[in-house]
Amino acid sequence: MNTAARIVLLLVVALLTGCQPAPSGTAITNVTVIDAINGVREDQTVVFDGDRIAAVSSSRQEVDAARTIDGTGKFLIPGLWDFHVHLTYDDSLTDVMPALFLSYGITSVRDTGGLMHKMLPVVEELRSDGAIAPRVFFSGPLLDGAFVVYDGESRPEIGVRNATPADARAAITELETQGVDFIKIYEMVSPDVFDAMVETANELGLPIDSHVPLSMRARVAGAAVDSIEHLRNIELDCASNAAELHETRLELLGNPDALPGAELRSSMHSLQRTPAIEAYDEKACDQTLAALRSTMQVPTLRLGAFSLAPPARRDDWEDALARIPPAVREDWRSSAMELAGNPVQEFVQFGKWAMFLTGRMHAQGIPIGAGTDTPILVAVPGYSLHSELEYLVAAGLSPLEAIASATVRPAEYFSLQDEMGAIEVGKKADLVLLDANPLDDIANTRSISGVVTKGDYLHKESLLDLVQKAYRDP
Ligand SMILES: [Zn+2]
Repeated sequence: MNTAARIVLLLVVALLTGCQPAPSGTAITNVTVIDAINGVREDQTVVFDGDRIAAVSSSRQEVDAARTIDGTGKFLIPGLWDFHVHLTYDDSLTDVMPALFLSYGITSVRDTGGLMHKMLPVVEELRSDGAIAPRVFFSGPLLDGAFVVYDGESRPEIGVRNATPADARAAITELETQGVDFIKIYEMVSPDVFDAMVETANELGLPIDSHVPLSMRARVAGAAVDSIEHLRNIELDCASNAAELHETRLELLGNPDALPGAELRSSMHSLQRTPAIEAYDEKACDQTLAALRSTMQVPTLRLGAFSLAPPARRDDWEDALARIPPAVREDWRSSAMELAGNPVQEFVQFGKWAMFLTGRMHAQGIPIGAGTDTPILVAVPGYSLHSELEYLVAAGLSPLEAIASATVRPAEYFSLQDEMGAIEVGKKADLVLLDANPLDDIANTRSISGVVTKGDYLHKESLLDLVQKAYRDP
């Protein structure tokens, strides 16, 4: 052995014996690990260091970590996603939404619509170094057609006008340079504008989220995009007279009465939705669903089937209200009570249809994503995702499949399945520690003991402090 080799050997021996570096990272010990890729693993120790999972091993093995959290009797799942949120929809909630999400175990969100001048500062803050906040993926504005639904008149301004294919190309090219993670196509676009949007997004490698445009059939539009929201307008394509309904819509979209966008859209929903549900044709619908086989569906059942299980009827509703800023609490309490008391028949019918269709889609292998549309329709940020998971189970998903819809499916949508969605070495350290088994009852995803966000462990009390701090001194 030459001298250099001897020195190296001595150094190695010294490192192994005397001067080991101090242990780092955090270990959660004796915990039951549950994810939708590996199923259930009992008696595990999970170590995370920085924002990565460093080890997953049997609790019988010794591990070195700077900090230990006893997970005995507890359950560890991957951090949850809310796959349909609007951070800038209600200014009185924007500042508190990130903390609220974390307090309910949501460590990633997909924002599906907001104007760029409002979105960009929010995204920048959430992504800044050291920010205790969920990961955020955003689309920028709703890309609408010649008429805009969310135009700032009767509804908040989160949509923009795209009257021609050239408008659409320019808008998406600009959004891409501003850093959006995907695009969101809205309901009033014409087929040529829709095609230009799809083509441009594909060229730029941006995933495409969409509503089914009223000018198109779901089997055509749905097959061209990566995700569809709310199941809305799919009922029109599942009707025995789908072609006829489509013809009528094309005429109405000429907008002879020059209605504002929101009114034009509502008038078409009112005219066709219920008749279409009543004219449901299984064969026609199976053709539609076959075209959607690889298009993720985000049914937002807590919105679409709201009347079937309104939040005001839940035991934990007051606790959820207690977490939102005092300035909006009273308003939400009374709105929620009112909504629970007077279910509109048409909404109940759509709710039942949405549950039925979600179950059928799931049975046919269509990927399902868990999203809420928070804060729209008294959806407390974070809280409402757990309601969505319960709806998904009621619609036919198993509890583990519901967890997949809020972990693995969203990761796949952004091609991040190697980074997120399961509890494995090398994956991001986003985790939720639960007091009760979510596979026994999906409602147990609410039993949050602590949350790991980007490698920071926050116990339940610290999470609640974070929420209060966010609205006391935003
Ligand atoms: Zn939305």
